[in-house]
Amino acid sequence: MPDLCGKGKTWNLLITGKPGSGKGTQASLLIQNLNIKHISTGEIFRREMQSDSELGRQVKTLVQKGELVPDPLTNAIVKKALQAKDYPHGFLLDGYPRTKDQAVMLDEMLQELKLKLDGVIQIRASDQTLLSRLAGRRVCTNCQETYHIVSHPPQVEGICDKCQHPLIQRPDDQEAAIKIRLDVYNEKTRPLLEYYQNQGLLWEINGEQDPESVYQEIIKKLGSD
Ligand code: ADP
Ligand code: ADP
Ligand code: ZN
Repeated sequence: MPDLCGKGKTWNLLITGKPGSGKGTQASLLIQNLNIKHISTGEIFRREMQSDSELGRQVKTLVQKGELVPDPLTNAIVKKALQAKDYPHGFLLDGYPRTKDQAVMLDEMLQELKLKLDGVIQIRASDQTLLSRLAGRRVCTNCQETYHIVSHPPQVEGICDKCQHPLIQRPDDQEAAIKIRLDVYNEKTRPLLEYYQNQGLLWEINGEQDPESVYQEIIKKLGSD
């Protein structure tokens, strides 16, 4: 296993893929093992909705329908997270950027902060796989830990192992919202793959394996970077 977090080593990474491809699952493993900051725009929006903040109320209808939150709002959230500079070992942006405008804005933010991306992890999985992962996904209403009723069930049905709060199905994991999210991905997010491919930053990862094997494939790429 290569030494990925040796002295002074930092990783500035993106993780991208269709809804349900396993971004969040891999993100938790990466942030723990590389000791980097997790910036998940989806998670930030869900937390804001949960606490019924002004921002949460603003984005709720869009998120629950499976539509994207407008770029200016999303960019502002990421800018704040990056400007905090509280990530001595680097960061992992999860679910951002999702549009070309966001990608361009991210480049500007990084330039301003004198930071560079080390790589873009693309988790690939077939639509059939995504659909069964999304249908079985359950999330904790308190700590947002993610489960799957078949591949990663909690010890007690419907209850979070970590904090004992109830698990729910995300409103945007219902069929109608899933369809919108896949269409949005194909139209707005897929073009970013070429954008990062052209910069020599794209790492394609086979997301059809069990989570540990997916993780090992990512680590191998990091080690050979
Ligand atoms: P998934 O993990 O299923 O791909 P996320 O948790 O990343 O979904 O995102 C959930 C929802 O939050 C999106 O469908 C969208 O409404 C909103 N969202 C998250 N990230 C962004 C983004 N970068 N731009 C616009 N909207 C976003
Ligand atoms: P994303 O963040 O891309 O939307 P998640 O990480 O939330 O995806 O994963 C979606 C669902 O699939 C979750 O229920 C998760 O437990 C499950 N899952 C994630 N990765 C795998 C995998 N490699 N094999 C089987 N199930 C997985
Ligand atoms: Zn929990």
